[in-house]
Amino acid sequence: MDDILAAADDLGPYKIVHINRPREGLRAIVVVDNIACGPAIGGARMAPDVSLAECARLARAMSLKNAAAGLPHGGGKSVVFADPGMPEADKERLMRAFACSIADITDYIVGPDMGTDERAMAWIKDEIGRATGLPAVIGGIPLDEIGATGFGCAVAAEVAQDFCDFSLDGARVAVQGFGAVGHHAARFLAEKGAVLVAASDSNGMVHAPDGIDVARLAAIKAGGGAVADYPVGEKHGRNAIIGVDCDIWIPAARPDVLDGDSVGRLKARLVVQGANIPATAEAETIMHERGILSVPDFIANAGGVICAAVEYRGGTETDAFAAIDEKIRRNTRSVLTDARERKCLPREAAEALAERRLREAMALRRWS
Ligand code: NAD
Repeated sequence: MDDILAAADDLGPYKIVHINRPREGLRAIVVVDNIACGPAIGGARMAPDVSLAECARLARAMSLKNAAAGLPHGGGKSVVFADPGMPEADKERLMRAFACSIADITDYIVGPDMGTDERAMAWIKDEIGRATGLPAVIGGIPLDEIGATGFGCAVAAEVAQDFCDFSLDGARVAVQGFGAVGHHAARFLAEKGAVLVAASDSNGMVHAPDGIDVARLAAIKAGGGAVADYPVGEKHGRNAIIGVDCDIWIPAARPDVLDGDSVGRLKARLVVQGANIPATAEAETIMHERGILSVPDFIANAGGVICAAVEYRGGTETDAFAAIDEKIRRNTRSVLTDARERKCLPREAAEALAERRLREAMALRRWS
């Protein structure tokens, strides 16, 4: 707790709420980081080993992501200390108890995150009327099914090609983590003329320089197979994806996969960060020095939260795609232009953009 208070700055956290209801077996934390742009949106994460520090860090990341995306929402996050694999009926009771406990935190709108899903959001909405990432039958837009985040990554890559010396038409793409984000990023990039040449999952990777049929690979995954079951191409261990010769490299799996050691193996010209914090600070600097352009996570992967914000206002899937296209296109161009002019890392330019918007919004509020 002391560390969090020491790390607090003039942006936030605005509010930290600890929830302890032993009779219901509920222990949770809500961090509302900043609400200058509007009520905070951020996921509820369920895991046995979550912490206040993790919650606060993720809440700040949401403040920056939402401000950078130009959404009328601040940043927040919540964590529930529990095993997400518990029986469904227990999970429902716990999430309903959690919802009732946060009924008064009206400046926080809950979304799904690790360990929670659209059904959990439906229970929260049912209790307090305030949640996003809902099932379609009650107005939700299934963002992973439609590929909201992957679509945004493809838009970011389309803009970034103007800042690199290659064109999307025929560009070779490698995707680390062929899941919801990775699959749809590959699909939308293929629609723009790029070719998927390698993909990995937690079990291994497939490399086929002549091209991988994205729909066929997705069907194998949907049927319970692994990317290495793709019938064509060479098969390697999952970490070999980092060294694949390609134009666009998309991390869409875990944090910190590019670090001071692994980044040296990268043979790409553009990295579009689908995953959250896939590169350490050292790796970002090395990429910059090697002339590899890297579009930061909270610019490139904002498609999901933009979709959630559209859903919250009652918008449709078409509205969501239009908003993602417009916002990510504008922000990627602005960040990459600024980075080029100031000769700084794209991440520095992105953080400056987000912080500038947050401070402008804060200046308009009496309290924020
Ligand atoms: P997902 O579970 O659908 O897919 C993740 C994929 O990564 C799976 O195929 C898994 O097998 C693979 N994987 C796991 N560890 C791996 C490893 N070490 N090497 C290679 N592959 C590995 O998850 P997702 O929703 O696609 O999310 C991917 C990342 O993007 C996460 O970091 C998530 O936080 C981030 N993100 C997701 C969204 C979204 O809208 N889903 C939005 C923003 C950020």
